[in-house]
Amino acid sequence: MRLISGLPVERDFGWGAAIESAARSYADRFPVAFRGAEGCELIATDGRRYLDLLCGAGVHVLGHAHPRIMAALHDVQAPLLSGLDLTTTDKLAFIEGLLGTLPAALRDDCRIQFCGPTGSDTIEAALKLARLATGRSGIFAFIGGYHGMSQGALGVSSARGVRRAGLRVRDDVTFCPFPYPFRGRGAWADPEAAIDLALAHVEMLLADDHSGTDIPAAMLIEAVQGEGGNIVAPPRFLRGLRALCDRHGILLILDEIQSGVGRTGHWWAHQHADVRVDMMCVAKGIGGGVPIGLLVYRSDLDLWQPGDHIGTFRGPLLAFILGRTTIEVIKEERLVEGAARLGATLSRGLEEMVARHAAAGELRGLGLFLGIELCGRPGLTAGEAARRVQAGLFERGIIIERGGRDGAVLRLLPPLNLPEAAADRFLEGLDRELASL
Ligand code: PMP
Repeated sequence: MRLISGLPVERDFGWGAAIESAARSYADRFPVAFRGAEGCELIATDGRRYLDLLCGAGVHVLGHAHPRIMAALHDVQAPLLSGLDLTTTDKLAFIEGLLGTLPAALRDDCRIQFCGPTGSDTIEAALKLARLATGRSGIFAFIGGYHGMSQGALGVSSARGVRRAGLRVRDDVTFCPFPYPFRGRGAWADPEAAIDLALAHVEMLLADDHSGTDIPAAMLIEAVQGEGGNIVAPPRFLRGLRALCDRHGILLILDEIQSGVGRTGHWWAHQHADVRVDMMCVAKGIGGGVPIGLLVYRSDLDLWQPGDHIGTFRGPLLAFILGRTTIEVIKEERLVEGAARLGATLSRGLEEMVARHAAAGELRGLGLFLGIELCGRPGLTAGEAARRVQAGLFERGIIIERGGRDGAVLRLLPPLNLPEAAADRFLEGLDRELASL
């Protein structure tokens, strides 16, 4: 396998750090230069192998350089690398594969729109289409939600840090509560009461004609908040929102950009709640490692005029081929079930850690979309504790994500085919790091 990219030795991490933007983030947290990747490992220029439980923020669902992905790359013939939105056989094959993953109600009556290649692009398309289809402009988004960096997507994202850094074009967004009992006060700390309160809040905004908000075009929500800190939307909450949407003619848009493609033990995380969606935003892992963004929506919402939402990169051949291959491999290797199984094993180990270590506050998530929220220790905030654990794991050769409120959540986005030995290696490293806090 070819791993060396021809990087001159002196152009190493420091050289990149000096020339790249200060907006870099992961590079500084994991300050080495990588020359390749294989399976669940990244390979640094000095040959050291790092266990990669970040996987490009969940993109590499099959791990790196999966033999089927490498074979598919090798087999590419007469490539039409990018064809706007021309119909190509590879696109048709990809669509066929994608349809096979969808819940029946959506699959049997949907349209698929290829947007620009990022998750943010699909959010922009969804917001535009919701407005077009309903004639309303408002959006209900949720506290803790993250939807991307473009200006519309930023407007529906909740974190102050990212909002501060960007220009937001939308002023018609209402942020609604998302049950988060771990940090809840009073009745909000009780999981069932938090669902009732959150639903009652949304209901009041809609029903009270003095609420200060118009009936929105759509509600936009993650079935599991990723960047917000691996917070699972309780099924009863999602079903309650669905009922409110139905009552007021509001569209329910699920952002499955991080939670989809098998990660939670279902193809799509909202299937855990068995809730019907009007639109679903998909990106990240669905392109087999190559950028692609798409929107799946009810066919009666397809009210665009030709050219209403265009873009140069809507037909990336490699994403179609590698995405189709990824879907096939996930099915053949039963990786959705595997994610549920390995997730349960990993969860048992992590629950033990929550029981054993005062710093480990709560385990949350579904399948292989797991996170542990840390608590502060004497002289250490929860965020500092999490930063320390992340850095300590890196020293041990293990890469994990961190996010959530105050950056206090250790987040896992491993490949769905993570070997159990690798999961054990992580648990052992985490145990030591938590003990050292
Ligand atoms: N929505 C969710 C839930 C995400 O996790 C992300 C990316 N982390 C996005 C949208 C934005 O995707 P992208 O970074 O590809 O624009």
